[in-house]
Amino acid sequence: MAPTPQPTARVEELRRLLNRAAYAYYVLDAPEMEDPVYDRLYRELLELEQAHPELISPDSPSQRVGDSPSTSFSSVEHRIPLLSLDNAFNNSELEAWYGRLLKVLDREPGPGEPLPALAMVGELKIDGNALALSYEQGLLVRAATRGDGERGEEITTNVRTIQSVPLRLALEQPPAWVEIRGEAFIPDGTFAAINEERQARGEALFANPRNACAGTLRQLDPRVVAARRLDFFAYTLHLPPGEPAPTSQWQSLQWLQTAGFRVNPNAELLPDLAAVAAFFSSWDEQRRALAYATDGVVVKLNELRLQDAAGFTQKAPRWAIALKYAAEEAPSRLLRLSCQVGRTGVITPVAEFEPVALAGTSVSRASLHNADRLAELDLHSGDTIVVRKAGEIIPEVVRVLRELRPAAAEPLELPHSCPECGSELVREAGEAATRCVNSSCPAILRGALRHWVNKGGLDVDGLGSKLIEQLVDRGLVGSIADLYRLDAALLASLERMGSKSAENLVAALASSKSQPWHRQLYGLGIHHVGEVNAKALARAFANAAALASAASDSPELITAVYGIGAEIAQSLQQWFATPANQQLLGQLESLGFSLGATGPELAGPGAGLVGAAAGAETPLAGQTFVLTGSLPSLSRSAAQALIEAAGGRVSASVSKKTSFVVAGEEAGSKLGKAKTLGVPILTEADLLTLLDQSQP
Ligand code: NAD
Repeated sequence: MAPTPQPTARVEELRRLLNRAAYAYYVLDAPEMEDPVYDRLYRELLELEQAHPELISPDSPSQRVGDSPSTSFSSVEHRIPLLSLDNAFNNSELEAWYGRLLKVLDREPGPGEPLPALAMVGELKIDGNALALSYEQGLLVRAATRGDGERGEEITTNVRTIQSVPLRLALEQPPAWVEIRGEAFIPDGTFAAINEERQARGEALFANPRNACAGTLRQLDPRVVAARRLDFFAYTLHLPPGEPAPTSQWQSLQWLQTAGFRVNPNAELLPDLAAVAAFFSSWDEQRRALAYATDGVVVKLNELRLQDAAGFTQKAPRWAIALKYAAEEAPSRLLRLSCQVGRTGVITPVAEFEPVALAGTSVSRASLHNADRLAELDLHSGDTIVVRKAGEIIPEVVRVLRELRPAAAEPLELPHSCPECGSELVREAGEAATRCVNSSCPAILRGALRHWVNKGGLDVDGLGSKLIEQLVDRGLVGSIADLYRLDAALLASLERMGSKSAENLVAALASSKSQPWHRQLYGLGIHHVGEVNAKALARAFANAAALASAASDSPELITAVYGIGAEIAQSLQQWFATPANQQLLGQLESLGFSLGATGPELAGPGAGLVGAAAGAETPLAGQTFVLTGSLPSLSRSAAQALIEAAGGRVSASVSKKTSFVVAGEEAGSKLGKAKTLGVPILTEADLLTLLDQSQP
């Protein structure tokens, strides 16, 4: 395990890195790191500073808001400081904020009493840039960026080009002065167009709409600003003392609307904390349909009297909190590099790191694929890494933050010998994979057994990884065929096995012998022969003998099968030519396996024949489906089987070529992507209707 870095050194490194990132972000408008990565590292610094207050220094990013105003514009002092917001990333942090709020307001409940409910306003957190607008006698006289919270850049000429910022308030009797705060932003469509133009001119692209907006607001040429069509939502109002004024945030939003501002229409008045949590979760998915970027919701105490009583910390109001949506990228610290030996002997390096919450789940491991990827990442022991997981996508290590590398860190590489059996690992020239080539390596055997019994294969209940491990480690099973020679008495003597479960397992193994031919073929674990290919091959070749003879003598019969290419034909040829595999087939046959089609289950077009295009005659041929979320009645594999039986294909990812996305409850990012690409979306009922209609 990597040693925990000393807090003093870590604080210094974090401070240096975050200050540099903030400069790149706020001053150069060219961020060096992803926002969620910045946020987590910033959190880590805050936590270290809280635990060791003696380490806080005046140049720490925790001691200021934003960055100093740029010298290209004149700097102006804000009439009222324009601060940042504190963040919460989940419901328990929201509850902790509410608890602190009740405490400053002296409203904490007594023992056993319910939490007092305070009305709050929920607003979307627009991912743009805060502006301070000053109006005098109803006329816009000054617009400024947030800057360091005390002083910002004076950008009035640029802000005048934003159509949704009124130059004159729509009020009969405007107040002597009024300060309005809100968010300038670039809608997604405009952002894409700006980047396209920049690309065409060979200019650097903006990282996201927020940076594009910040860069635009600080353009020296107002014509460029006008061409970029910024937009603005107002959300805060400050009126002079003595002026008739709203008494709540909700009324302030109405005031702003009446005065001629665009106010985001999705704000809601929320009676209590439960309503806030519901508002937060309901916008997580909905926000993807908006035409502008949002990165959370902002929750504000409704009554202004209570806001005054709660006051501010050095950086942010106590009466508001930004609830941010689950990040898809975050930093973590590498704990160790482990290696997995797959069922084909391929060695996969795996990064194990401190758990991080990503896209709503806790992640602590990510595959690094192979030795090349490991070298490309330049991974060292104790490195701080950036990990990414979006929706249902498998987590990956994106890069290493070299600036945070501990001094004595050692470079990491793949071992030279197999971690399971100790034999020397081999990497063939031109191959990405490093392999253990010892066919009796226990890891390879365990993998083959797990694959044979899994759901898509022979689907044997009661034979999990732990039991397989015991059977292999004790030398009770040396091949797939050995599983069928186990007796209940022996099984019952193993750890965590009773006589009942042993009998059930023997029965489950016996009945697995009648699984259809395509499952047997898939279960053999031949390289490249997954569930879909196994079905296609089983439809075209009546039994293992026919497939083996085509593999050795007429590979063109194999490649004639729809969806099967030369690589698969070659892999089949190698598999059937290996004596150990021939022996296995012989043993399985003598144990009672058909290794071929037995009934009507495979009597589809071309069953038992070497069909030229077995799938092409079926009604959904050529259509690609993607399944996401849980369907009301069909399991995923049942839906897949129905689609495939009708000749359709099921793919894991959505692209422009996808014909339909079938979405159920809690559909993930695939649904969002389908909407963006305009791919038709079906419910389970729609799918069933489509299948019905396609019955001949
Ligand atoms: P923030 O973005 O977390 O929240 C505060 C801001 O939210 C306000 O200033 C305001 O502009 C905005 N906002 C949007 N909708 C609002 C609404 N309805 N009501 C009130 N405010 C609303 O905090 P921040 O201090 O502006 O900036 C920190 C952000 O900048 C973080 O997200 C951080 O990741 C990013 N940052 C990134 C880097 C980097 O290198 N990538 C460096 C520095 C800062």
